[in-house]
Amino acid sequence: MTKVFILYTGGTFGMRPSGDPGNRLVPSTWNDILPYMPAIKDQGYFGYFKGIDFTFATLKEPVDSSNIEPVNWKEIAETIQANYEDHSGFVIIHGTDTMAYTASALSFMFEGLNKPIVLTGSQLPVFHPRTDAIVNLSNAIYIAGYQNFDLPCIPEVCICFNDDILRGNRAVKTSTNDFEGFYSPNFSHLGWLEQMIEINEIQLLPPSSEELSLKSEFSRHVVNVTIFPGYNPQVLIDLVRQNRLEGIVLKTFGSGNIPDAPIWKQLVQECEAHNVLILATTQCPNGALNIGKYEASKILISPNVINGYDLTSEAALTKLMWVIGNFPFEERKQYLEQNLRGEMSLS
Ligand code: ASP
Repeated sequence: MTKVFILYTGGTFGMRPSGDPGNRLVPSTWNDILPYMPAIKDQGYFGYFKGIDFTFATLKEPVDSSNIEPVNWKEIAETIQANYEDHSGFVIIHGTDTMAYTASALSFMFEGLNKPIVLTGSQLPVFHPRTDAIVNLSNAIYIAGYQNFDLPCIPEVCICFNDDILRGNRAVKTSTNDFEGFYSPNFSHLGWLEQMIEINEIQLLPPSSEELSLKSEFSRHVVNVTIFPGYNPQVLIDLVRQNRLEGIVLKTFGSGNIPDAPIWKQLVQECEAHNVLILATTQCPNGALNIGKYEASKILISPNVINGYDLTSEAALTKLMWVIGNFPFEERKQYLEQNLRGEMSLS
């Protein structure tokens, strides 16, 4: 039997109207959900999943993913680690709002990963007659239980949503509405889930020969700042001077440009004086940074500024939080500059 571990964390996937005034959507329990998924509960109509042995688990409390915090990333990762040896792959059912953050965070937390960790969710609850939950979960099971379906192994954290298989730390949520809810702006798909399942093997990370290990601390002393014409960085300077920040993701204009003004120079100097790292990225949805191309990027040429190339916002933030959380200051820059888990293209 191929053993697949399914962890339900919440999200629209399992939500139903609360019945309270306003009738807002709230998470329900796995036991409420399971009867709506005979494909999983009974090993599939006509036995499509008959070779799969499922283990089901839930977060201590299923949540709207807006409530997910680093402590939940740790809980998810530790659950995977505890069940790693016995299972061929893992499916994490997760709300779409912060799925790309969790996928990115998990990708950094694990070293030596050799099995698929597949995040999925849905735009309509499993209880809805037009739900996308069942097809999304079924697709994720095919990827996590790849051996049973003669598919190649995707030995990394990925998102299966609609007909896309995306690298987790390259994905962004692009629609609050469309079934095609995620996109990977700077990296090709890992696969496609049409009538046939096609895995884009050339894009996969190589399998690791190392033992699985986990580093699960995250700094909360970071900010993610999108600059705009007229933005005043004084508030950042104040926070840096008060030693309340350890890292800044700075979403610059275009290929790495910021205003050529003394106050920006001052921000960079204060960061140097207070051991604060700036991970520079672009606010453009597509393309990469090229610090030094324009005169307007020269202030960013500093030992404390790291080129984030084509990192997504979610990957940049979780990478910065994770690196600061797990390594001493002297080692942080070296980790941030590396392409650790396929999250960025270094050119
Ligand atoms: N608010 C929901 C969540 O992220 C949205 C969704 O799952 O689609 O949990």
